[in-house]
Amino acid sequence: AKAAGRHCYRFFEIEMDAQARTQHVLEIDLRNALARGELDVYYQTIVDVATRTPIGVEALVRWRHPVFGELSPDRFIPIAEDTGMIVALGEWILRRACMDAAAWPPHVKVAVNLSPVQFRNPELVPMVRDILASAGFPPSRLELEITESVLLQKHTAIIDMLQELSRLGISIVLDDFGVGYSSLSYLRLFPFSKIKIDRGFVSEMTQRADCATIVSAVTGLAHALDMQTTAEGVETWEQFRLVQAAGCSQAQGYLFSRPQPADRIDFSRRENGER
Ligand code: C2E
Ligand code: CA
Ligand code: CA
Ligand code: CA
Repeated sequence: AKAAGRHCYRFFEIEMDAQARTQHVLEIDLRNALARGELDVYYQTIVDVATRTPIGVEALVRWRHPVFGELSPDRFIPIAEDTGMIVALGEWILRRACMDAAAWPPHVKVAVNLSPVQFRNPELVPMVRDILASAGFPPSRLELEITESVLLQKHTAIIDMLQELSRLGISIVLDDFGVGYSSLSYLRLFPFSKIKIDRGFVSEMTQRADCATIVSAVTGLAHALDMQTTAEGVETWEQFRLVQAAGCSQAQGYLFSRPQPADRIDFSRRENGER
């Protein structure tokens, strides 16, 4: 048994080595990915619950790696954050999103994810302002999604930046609501325009009544504080009906569309619920 244990341990070490090597390879490749045109921005529509028509999109970065194929942002965003590459990458994503969205119907908003690391860059606000100006994209159509981990950093500086972005007319959205532990307290810290209720909640609503109760309580609170709510990860009409009953104003998920390239999005389609 002892020998086997040692064997397993050895195997584990080798596995770890392989992982670390892959990580290192990805880090080097990511440096060149932009210049090589391997990165792309996909868009997933967000629908208005009442009308079931698209009212916005979320920009989601994609990396088509020459060897590993399509890599999830969950694989490479952390690398970009650890190395600081997220600053350049985030700027490129924002520019792409504003340029793509400038060609879309004026009622369509575009939501772009911002990493906590981007808030350590004092040039963040001027960068956003310059991109909007050069893309000719109105700030009122831009939403910036942040997670509560952003608010765990040096508070005052971050809140100042968020206020400044908000003064420009940009909407600040609290992403992944419900995965942290003290989310409710953050709602007071900054006037968010919208909160996105995490996919975990939405999928559990169909199994557990208390989950649905929480979602409708959160939605009621958000609306009382003049914030909209988006239910994330809606995959079935059953889930859609539950988030509708809970009072969510918007929904996003595979039920309506997968993230797809800019030229493949249809803003006119209305979902009828009979699938
Ligand atoms: P997120 O911001 O919470 O984005 C939503 C994720 O849920 C996306 O995964 C989306 O494809 C996925 N999703 C949407 N609808 C459904 C559904 O119905 N079912 C399921 N199972 N999943 C659904 P994706 O594109 O893999 O992105 C993962 C995470 O990577 C994002 O989570 C975000 O944290 C990060 N990310 C993606 N793009 C960017 C970016 O441009 N910048 C930054 N900083 N982070 C990004
Ligand atoms: Ca997001
Ligand atoms: Ca989210
Ligand atoms: Ca997430």
